[in-house]
Amino acid sequence: MATYEFRCPTDGVITLQLPLGEAPASITCPECTDSARRLFSIPQLRFGDPRARRLIAETTASASEPAVVSAPQGRRRTPRVRPSADPRTAMLPAP
Ligand SMILES: [Zn+2]
Repeated sequence: MATYEFRCPTDGVITLQLPLGEAPASITCPECTDSARRLFSIPQLRFGDPRARRLIAETTASASEPAVVSAPQGRRRTPRVRPSADPRTAMLPAP
């Protein structure tokens, strides 16, 4: 069985489950009995979550084409200067 789509000018898209290769060029709309022409569209495939697909694609690509990076990814850290409360330790290097 395959899902076929037909478009009725009045009621919009109608989906039908029919055996493969047995979809007619047009059907009678069950709502208004007008003629609904068959639509040619992408089969109803499920590719999953787009974020998961991108992660899988990037992981697969990194096995053979690793990206060249100049620094670790993520937030750039700036050195933080701690003001010292005690003036005697202000000149010491920060831990
Ligand atoms: Zn209709």
